[in-house]
Amino acid sequence: MSVRVRIAPSPTGLMHVGTARTALFNWLFAKKNSGVFVLRIEDTDKERSKNEYEENIIEGLEWLGLDYQEFYRQSERTEIYANYIKKLLDSGSAFYCYHSPEELEREKDEQMAKKLAPRHKCDGESGIRNPAFAKAMAGRQESGIIRFKNPGGKVKFYDLIRGEIEFDSGLFGDFSIAKDEHTPLYNLAAAIDDCEMKISHVIRGEDHISNTPKQLLIYQALGLVPPKYAHLPMILGTDKSKLSKRHGAAALTEYRAMGYLPDAMFNFLVFLGWNPGNEKEILSREEITEQFSLERVQKSGAVFNIEKLDWMNGQYIRKTPIDELTKLSLPYLASEGKKSEIDGKKSDFEEFARQIVALEQLRLTKLSQIAERTEFFFKDTLMYDKELLKWKAMNNEEVKETLEKLEELLGGIPEKVYTKEKLEEILMAEAQKIGDRGKLLWPLRVALTGRKASPGPFEVAEILGKKKCLARLREAKRLL
Ligand code: GLU
Repeated sequence: MSVRVRIAPSPTGLMHVGTARTALFNWLFAKKNSGVFVLRIEDTDKERSKNEYEENIIEGLEWLGLDYQEFYRQSERTEIYANYIKKLLDSGSAFYCYHSPEELEREKDEQMAKKLAPRHKCDGESGIRNPAFAKAMAGRQESGIIRFKNPGGKVKFYDLIRGEIEFDSGLFGDFSIAKDEHTPLYNLAAAIDDCEMKISHVIRGEDHISNTPKQLLIYQALGLVPPKYAHLPMILGTDKSKLSKRHGAAALTEYRAMGYLPDAMFNFLVFLGWNPGNEKEILSREEITEQFSLERVQKSGAVFNIEKLDWMNGQYIRKTPIDELTKLSLPYLASEGKKSEIDGKKSDFEEFARQIVALEQLRLTKLSQIAERTEFFFKDTLMYDKELLKWKAMNNEEVKETLEKLEELLGGIPEKVYTKEKLEEILMAEAQKIGDRGKLLWPLRVALTGRKASPGPFEVAEILGKKKCLARLREAKRLL
């Protein structure tokens, strides 16, 4: 059997991590089995579906590198569904129900009061499609809805992850399947499409498990062969409750904007329900594709831990070649870059950025951090409290003398050899003389960066260049 799988998102919001995880598992299953991965946009809900969300889904898949071989939009397949709806109506497996929303509401309240699962059953002939009845009800046609005539009984299926699953189909009542003959609802459209598109395996979130028996009943009524099913575990927050924004969950494109790398995201997402069976956590796309199998997908909820994502992303940032990382970081630095003119020899912004990125590469967990961490490189004047310039019990006078000494030492280094090695050699020799290197290097760091914590002062000084370093030392003196 050739493997054909699909991701079937509804374009009613930005693509969230859950959808991305489902897409990834389907994509991996297709890759592993030389199969086909289909993107099907489930846009039958006209009010809630939006073009921009469809674009967002496509962008998200592209960013993660999940290529699909076929693309469908349900809104363009109305005729196909209409055919099947007619078949179901003609065979009596579906019927028009004219119960008003108020009647349905009342029925639901009564059932809830009896602690029963709410379901609607159009008993006897009262709701069954029957020309005379339909005519009598003509005035109510607008509120009519097409329901599936539920035969009742048990529905069983074998889930590739969870094993045998059985439902009492009576629990669903006569569930609705279409608003009218041209407007199918989710269960009907999905069932028909999975069959029409020859989907071999439906791999989707556990939240859809109760839809499966409904879809199976539809297949039964139509005499169609259903696909195989695999329901992926729920994604939970670290407190084991349903994943939400407060756990750091966001739309895929929001993670991209925050500076998570697609390879890190790919690696992170696959661990939401799968693991390779050893301790290894950083795996390349190739390794994951090679090792992935549905057999290793867990049943229990998968915990989404944003700290783990940060850690992983940091690992990927360190592995990225510096030129590529610079390119990826430019959007975060560009706005900073415009704020100031860059020293003569470093007029090439990319080269300047490359040095800054190299300096931060080991410390970043996401690219967006780089702007904030390195803004001092781009500022004309730094804002900080002059007290910060003081190392331990130093007084104003001592700091001033130190700044003057620094000006003299830095000023004495020729531009050509104004490198971190040279700076280190000269400044460490001086620090030796003083006996407490903090007395020299602390005021230097603060004068150059305006901060307590920053990369090493020699590296910073080299990147800033001589002219700017001297200007900042003078500025610090002025502050005092
Ligand atoms: N449109 C459904 C969703 O976005 C698809 C469910 C399915 O995969 O069948 O959740």
